Amino acid sequence: MKQKDLLYTGKAKSVFRTDVKGRLIVEFRDDITAFDGGKKDNLKNKGSYNAEASAFIFQFLAKNGVKTHFIQMLDPRRMLVRELSMIPLEVIVRNVAAGSIVRNYPFKEGTKLNPPVIVIDYKDDSRHDPMLNDDLIVALKLATPKELAAIKKAALKINALLVKLMAAQGITLVDFKIEFGRAGKTIYLGDEISMDSMRLWDKKTGESLDKDVYRFDKGDVMATYNRVVKRITTTASQKKERAGTTGTSKTKPATATKPKAAVRKPVKKSPGKKR
Ligand code: 5GP
Repeated sequence: MKQKDLLYTGKAKSVFRTDVKGRLIVEFRDDITAFDGGKKDNLKNKGSYNAEASAFIFQFLAKNGVKTHFIQMLDPRRMLVRELSMIPLEVIVRNVAAGSIVRNYPFKEGTKLNPPVIVIDYKDDSRHDPMLNDDLIVALKLATPKELAAIKKAALKINALLVKLMAAQGITLVDFKIEFGRAGKTIYLGDEISMDSMRLWDKKTGESLDKDVYRFDKGDVMATYNRVVKRITTTASQKKERAGTTGTSKTKPATATKPKAAVRKPVKKSPGKKR
């Protein structure tokens, strides 16, 4: 498998053609941005942390019957994927009110949303990703009603699986954003699921374990990402094994980011979508 021309470059990932039809390479770069690109940095190892988390989650979802574009990791930051024709929708699933839903609607941060709330935005930076509704999605021919139903069903299934996965690691899955694409008539989960695209809170301390650490200068972003990847990718059986070999069931205590957010600070108001 040879990497060929650059096909697309986004804010944090680059996509390359390969010498094999229907296969692309996604490279997770060390760039990190927030607030529509208003805040930008390059943080060492960020790409590989997000790639590792994404790869783990894609494999976990695939084992549970979700069709994803993931094929394999080629190295710590390059992922081989199935080529998809991406649908320009940002499908956001929310279990707890936080972020833009608190800025734009009268929700109190931390309010549980049960059943989960799905919000779908139009992926278009120049328009600041405006929120869509079903009628607009169909009128804009972004998806057929049948596809939209399948996308929502898949989003809720992914949410249920990830809520459980995170809960097992003492993490609340507050919300996350996913994207889908087509290969022939089949819809696959594409893009990434990482600390950049999820909002994660430590169940005990309320501490942010995701890009909010960067957005709102809550601490050492890369130390947080590193710690979260380890936490997410260590399965229960590995934990037991470790406890067995060390003769203790204690896991290493968190060192990096101070558990600041047990009492969550209100987020500054900003117009429209600013991530
Ligand atoms: P919010 O609407 O509250 O800003 O974001 C909701 C969730 O979707 C958060 O977990 C956020 O990280 C994720 N999200 C929303 N838009 C984007 C985006 O354009 N890129 C990425 N990576 N994640 C997004």
